[in-house]
Amino acid sequence: MSALLELRDVHAGYGQTRVLHGIDLVVDPGGVTALLGANGAGKTTTLRAVCGMVRTSGDISLAGEPIQGRPTEDIARRGVAHVPDGRGTFMELTVEENFRLGAFVRQDKEVHADFERMFGYFPRLKQRWRQQAGTLSGGEQQMLAIARALLLRPRLLLLDEPSFGLAPLIVQDIFGILRQVRAEQGVGILIVEQNANLALDFADRAYLLETGRIVVSGPAHEIREDEQVRRSYLGY
Ligand code: ATP
Repeated sequence: MSALLELRDVHAGYGQTRVLHGIDLVVDPGGVTALLGANGAGKTTTLRAVCGMVRTSGDISLAGEPIQGRPTEDIARRGVAHVPDGRGTFMELTVEENFRLGAFVRQDKEVHADFERMFGYFPRLKQRWRQQAGTLSGGEQQMLAIARALLLRPRLLLLDEPSFGLAPLIVQDIFGILRQVRAEQGVGILIVEQNANLALDFADRAYLLETGRIVVSGPAHEIREDEQVRRSYLGY
């Protein structure tokens, strides 16, 4: 089975600052890969490297096709949707307008059916259809950001800290929906998450990043038993 996403010896940085020093990473088709690590390790930069938002070298391929060095719009059109940290919804626009923007690159006529599908996952967004995104609760904004990304019909969803700043019950809700989305849409997911417990429960593969290098990798259930991961990220 060839990988949905594969990074080989990927380096990235900002100006003179080198952040990633040769990362190898895989997301299987329809699989979930978690990227763990301390603040500043380079997790967000890894997601940015995949969607062409930061200068990189090395090989990045999507379903066997090289995407490294391509423009962000082109990578999005090939099926990569990014939910950045801080959510990335258009705060001034309504829920409806955010939905329409999410779907605007789509040429097909099934957009409305997909709106309905999103309401199935996120009924609260239907109730808040005409409300400005900036006035939604944090959990609703995260839901909107995920819905908007899914409206691209991605093959790969990049999630940056979806639990950040949210109450535990909302986090449970969101991860429940992500499990459903994964099962129903077959979308592969690369997730950056501070809550290592949550991430390792959700993922089938995981990587631990330290100052721009992968130091531990493997099946999520094995990473959970790793001494270093347990001590530093799981707290037992
Ligand atoms: P966190 O969990 O705190 O978000 P992270 O693992 O996602 O951390 P990154 O956001 O990828 O880490 O940042 C890695 C390093 O790159 C940090 O030292 C950060 O200061 C630096 N960095 C991030 N964005 C920029 C930028 N636009 N310009 C310069 N340096 C940056």
